[in-house]
Amino acid sequence: MRFEISKVLDAIEGRVCTDPQLVRAVIDLAEIIRYQDLDGGRPASTLRLGMVIDALARSLEEDTVPVYAVVHRGVLSDADLTSNERMVVRRWADDGLVEVLDNPGDRMLEVADLLGLPVLSRVRFDGLRGRFPWLVEQPGRVLAPVPGAGGPVFIAHVGGGHTPVSGPPSPAAAKLLAREWRCPESGCNLFGGSGGGGAFADLARVDRAPTGQPPPSLRGGVPTCPRHGTRLRDAGSRPRSEVLAVRVGGLTRRRFVLTAEQPVTVGRAPEGSNGIVLGQWLNDEARRWISRSHLRFELRGADIVATDVSTNGSGIRPAGSMTEADRIPLPPQQSRVLGAGDMVELYPGVQIGRPDDLPAGAPYNPDSVMSEAPTMAMRLPR
Ligand SMILES: [Zn+2]
Repeated sequence: MRFEISKVLDAIEGRVCTDPQLVRAVIDLAEIIRYQDLDGGRPASTLRLGMVIDALARSLEEDTVPVYAVVHRGVLSDADLTSNERMVVRRWADDGLVEVLDNPGDRMLEVADLLGLPVLSRVRFDGLRGRFPWLVEQPGRVLAPVPGAGGPVFIAHVGGGHTPVSGPPSPAAAKLLAREWRCPESGCNLFGGSGGGGAFADLARVDRAPTGQPPPSLRGGVPTCPRHGTRLRDAGSRPRSEVLAVRVGGLTRRRFVLTAEQPVTVGRAPEGSNGIVLGQWLNDEARRWISRSHLRFELRGADIVATDVSTNGSGIRPAGSMTEADRIPLPPQQSRVLGAGDMVELYPGVQIGRPDDLPAGAPYNPDSVMSEAPTMAMRLPR
């Protein structure tokens, strides 16, 4: 059973990150793991993070929605967690997947403010409504995860809605996120030169792209490392990047970031750690048609270039048209610059494009981050 929990934690690991381009909500891990009423289980459990992430996916009608987790340092040694859970959270911290702070203060709200993200929290933040007016002006920006029939549901603190709402990013964010930042502390997991700096540093598979850097904290207008409280050094402009989304069967399954330095290969099971694996979402026919590596995406200047590297070829749907007559073949080994609104189709119903260009409207049935968790895993004694 421990093995099963490990698998769930591995799945959850894919849904926590600090990349401003991919995260969809902000949470406080120390708070969420103690929502005992969600499952009636142990005083603290990281599986509740999975439950809340699943609820977010249901609510946004999209699979694989990562959250930005602010983590009080105490969680790393919380005796109410299992040793395995503590080890996993430490690994997330070392890899810079979560933001570990000695004193989180209102950092969760700052991140939400900078990025325009919703906050998933039961705290009402009454005292901070002056500093963050969107707490009252934008219903749905703060939602409390509460027990529901099929898992947690959300209730907005203001307005009583149930759907997370994003707002405009703060004007300061555009400037902060246009630059790369370096922390003077050696081995800083958030603003280091590469990867994490902790015990797992040597093993860190993440040599994180600079685009994945979290938003700096602004203290007195100065970009500051939220972990060390030190002034950050401007290390130049952040490389251009674009976000693309994979849609299978009418549902956005995941988004990924494309940078000039890092082309991304998409296919049934592409090799390399940077590939996007589609296999788990495909039926048998699509699995036979789609090559292990099917399409390569590159960013050249401002252009997204799609190159077919498959056996069977792909197609382009200009401006998202679903009419067969409009479909332009993209034969094997050929490239094409994605125009505004264009989608690449690997197989009928399997498409890649800019997230806002993918047409909506299919029945919704997201994959659970918990799907590999037998429910009894959550009732396990420690
Ligand atoms: Zn730092």
